[in-house]
Amino acid sequence: MIKVVRIGFYALTSCYGCQLQFAMMDEILKFLPKAEIVCWYMLNRDSKEHEKVDIAFIEGSVSTEEEVELVKKIRENAKIVVAVGACATQGGVQSWDDRPLEELWKTVYGDGKVKFEPKMAEPVEKFIKVDYKLYGCPPEKKDFIYTIGTLLIGTWPEDIDYPVCLDCRLRGNPCVLIEKNEPCLGPVTRAGCDARCPSYGIACIGCRGAIGYDVAYFDALGLTLRKKNFTKDEILDRMRIFNAHNPKLEEMVNKIFEEGE
Ligand code: SF4
Ligand code: SF4
Ligand code: SF4
Repeated sequence: MIKVVRIGFYALTSCYGCQLQFAMMDEILKFLPKAEIVCWYMLNRDSKEHEKVDIAFIEGSVSTEEEVELVKKIRENAKIVVAVGACATQGGVQSWDDRPLEELWKTVYGDGKVKFEPKMAEPVEKFIKVDYKLYGCPPEKKDFIYTIGTLLIGTWPEDIDYPVCLDCRLRGNPCVLIEKNEPCLGPVTRAGCDARCPSYGIACIGCRGAIGYDVAYFDALGLTLRKKNFTKDEILDRMRIFNAHNPKLEEMVNKIFEEGE
């Protein structure tokens, strides 16, 4: 078991929402006796970005050539790499639009010049090995506590392999897909948020990522998307918002619409 764990929290292209979520946790104070925070600019301006750490948490998508080099350096310096949030695990909303970079750049920045070399936003895993992923936009506080807690005591966190619908049913929420005909992505999205959006009557938009057709809630609700007359393109477009780089996406949506088309 590691005694005092050296931790780094690094930000790539992101809104900083994931690290803000974790930096604001009171519980973080309880970890301090067991952890040395080597790099976390949000908490300490004197952070050391290129030092060795036991656990590296990386937030954000890889969206510049400089960030490609940075993630490789982080990997070299870290024993365990955890990708944090939809940007780091799936490319995030910034990789939703797949038009060529030049066209996107022109749309947003016109003729603006920058001092870095931009590229299309991609998940961290495209460039380095990622050991564990925290899903969500942002992930839940309990995800962070659970992950860091298990790693601190020398064990390994488990993956969540069931869909949002399961959490939703446990909470006893009315189903917005069945009752309101909303295109809720709960049946095909990884759980762990306690069905946050449907609990407020809002359809899930898939921020925790496509879960894969082998464990999706097809029988109960996945096929309802088709029965409610949503088209394959509608569901695919909605899922791409957070899942543009998710390799499980097409197979899942195909599975929903494979019959009856
Ligand atoms: S995953 Fe969401 S909250 Fe986290 S950095 Fe990206 S956009 Fe922000
Ligand atoms: S489809 Fe949406 S609202 Fe219905 S049970 Fe699943 S997560 Fe809940
Ligand atoms: S319900 Fe869906 S969109 Fe909302 S937090 Fe959970 S996974 Fe994300």
